[in-house]
Amino acid sequence: MADAPAVDLRSDTVTLPSPGMRAAMASAAVGDDVKGEDATVRALEQQVAQHLGKQAGLFAPSGTQSNLLGLFAHCERGDEYIVGDQAHTYQYEGGGAAVLGSIQPQPVAMSRDGTLSLSAIEAVIKPEDFHFAKTRVVCLENTHGGVPLPLDYAPQVRDLCQQHGLSLHLDGARLLNAAVAQGYPAAQLAEPFDSISLCLSKGLGAPVGSVLVGDESFIQRARRWRKVLGGGMRQAGIIAAAGIYALEHHVQRLAEDHRRTAEIAQTLAEKFGGEYVRYATNMVHLSLDTHIYQALCEQLTQRGIVVGRPRWVVHRDIDDEGVAQICQVIRAFSLQSAD
Ligand SMILES: *Cc1c(COP(=O)(O)O)cnc(C)c1O
Repeated sequence: MADAPAVDLRSDTVTLPSPGMRAAMASAAVGDDVKGEDATVRALEQQVAQHLGKQAGLFAPSGTQSNLLGLFAHCERGDEYIVGDQAHTYQYEGGGAAVLGSIQPQPVAMSRDGTLSLSAIEAVIKPEDFHFAKTRVVCLENTHGGVPLPLDYAPQVRDLCQQHGLSLHLDGARLLNAAVAQGYPAAQLAEPFDSISLCLSKGLGAPVGSVLVGDESFIQRARRWRKVLGGGMRQAGIIAAAGIYALEHHVQRLAEDHRRTAEIAQTLAEKFGGEYVRYATNMVHLSLDTHIYQALCEQLTQRGIVVGRPRWVVHRDIDDEGVAQICQVIRAFSLQSAD
């Protein structure tokens, strides 16, 4: 096996497949999934659909593609989706819905907890009139910057969508972090949504893949678009097996990531003051002065801890020893020693 990874706080995408996961991948039953003949992909799709209480699932190479497939399956050319102005789908997916789908985004101000105000959503829903794009779907995100959506929020958006004949999609890249943190079944958090995209390659620790879920006819339309976008893969059971392994072994352990995140955040708050530190589930956000943050990064780097922007993400390749190292650097930090 390769060397143990350095303590890396940049993202939960840096996790490496464990020996058990690699063994599951090596022994996976496979077939041509474009022909629907890969038993492992089918099993993963069914497993995620069942876990989230939906009829059907579709395995996609990335969360970006899975969200895109969701939007394509809900919308036609000239339609519009309502989305938070800080949402991944709007900010970090290359404008794919507009670029590739002729679907117009209608951004709405997004709070730190991932909510968009109901009145702000309602205000941008377009009336039936050929001057306007056709509003078709609202897209939410859970978690957003690590913060789970408030439990009573999505049902309210669902009611609003039903009044206006809109669909509701969830970018649930880290939905299972929310479920574990809030102590609710994922299916209950998923219930208000027509479709959900779940990432396997974030905190769940699989190397590749996302699953889109929804009802049968929706998934059938998305499956067609996946082929169009070049996301139809052949013996994809090799990677789907990692997703099944992750669902079976890496969901409940997300609570460990959350506990470690709280420990790092509390150490930061003791050192710098709680007003500079926000955290939820597996993410810590720092708002220190730039020169202080840079000095802290230098001192962490000297100890072999990899950091990027002031958003730190805890994951299964950071253990208690890694947390102790991080906290030790934080406690020992001083501006002078950076010079
Ligand atoms: C990572 C992520 C995605 C999808 O990302 P890919 O890198 O394309 O798999 C979507 N939404 C959120 C919130 C994410 O964090």
